[in-house]
Amino acid sequence: MIKMDYGDAEHRKKLEETFVALLDDADERQKTWGKLRKRLYNLKNEFKMLLPTQLKKLMILPYTKLAEIYDTYATLRLAEKDDLHLALKELFSYTKEKGGRFNALSDSIIDFFKNKNNGFDIHTCHYCDMTYINYFQYEEVTKSGKRRGIRTQFDLDHVLDKGRCPLVALSLYNLVPTCPTCNGPHIKGKRVMDVNLNQRQKLSPTSNLYDFDNQVKIWLRPKIERITNMDFLKHMDDYELDFDTLSDADYDKEIDFFYLKERYNYHKCEALRLAELKVKYTSSKIIEMARIICNTGKGEQNEPIPFANMIIEQIRRDIFGLEFSNEHHRSFHKLRKDILDFNDGE
Ligand SMILES: [Zn+2]
Repeated sequence: MIKMDYGDAEHRKKLEETFVALLDDADERQKTWGKLRKRLYNLKNEFKMLLPTQLKKLMILPYTKLAEIYDTYATLRLAEKDDLHLALKELFSYTKEKGGRFNALSDSIIDFFKNKNNGFDIHTCHYCDMTYINYFQYEEVTKSGKRRGIRTQFDLDHVLDKGRCPLVALSLYNLVPTCPTCNGPHIKGKRVMDVNLNQRQKLSPTSNLYDFDNQVKIWLRPKIERITNMDFLKHMDDYELDFDTLSDADYDKEIDFFYLKERYNYHKCEALRLAELKVKYTSSKIIEMARIICNTGKGEQNEPIPFANMIIEQIRRDIFGLEFSNEHHRSFHKLRKDILDFNDGE
């Protein structure tokens, strides 16, 4: 739902440099990569085109390429205990394999996402935008003295399951900060979307093709034919929140996969409250309020009113809270934006 923001080209370059530097034991890993890569070439010729010779390059491949690697690897249908599969798991050690030769990189990768200089938006889950995620500094006194650290309260999800394809376990553009619910066993867990390659390459917040924000619109669908009053909250059962994907139906796959419609409807009061505010405070009402504040009568409406526009804007901001939710990354921001869309007829 929320596209990952890696900043401008210069920032992205710096991010990638910092990210590949997290790889420890790099020479040894590169040597192993050389051997395993050749075994993959023997199984499938396409790998010669897909897999970079440098392991570090694989860590910063664009998501569209990772999706291609993932799909090609899946066609090998290697068993879980397959030799090559296990050797790849050992090399791409996000978490440490039993008796594995290489250190796990999960801690340093999570720290990378938490580092303020890297500029990641860790506020709400990138999949659902319902749940807040965070990290915080803590200090505790133990017998051996004071201990300080940073607690993590979010998951770093591998969009493409690293268990099925270890090749994508250490890739920057396969990682998304999410809430434990979206990443939990009942939703994402180890599931991967059932999609074709084109859809897969698009349907990830890390993909440069991802455009959920413009291709999907959240709206309130009346469930009865004639709506007789605008007391939305008093008639909650007459409405349903819906995700409109007319412009690109592929996004239905993502909406279904994360149960967004079901989960959002549980909180539909958020949308109904905004719809009610929108009906109550029309543009003309707000202009009228601004006039009262500026102490100018209706007859003077054609004359320039000092500060009037500023006050109109201020009232709108205060009532609807859209700018606040944008600037401070509050949850349900897309819902708020879509329901309050002021271009839809008002
Ligand atoms: Zn979530």
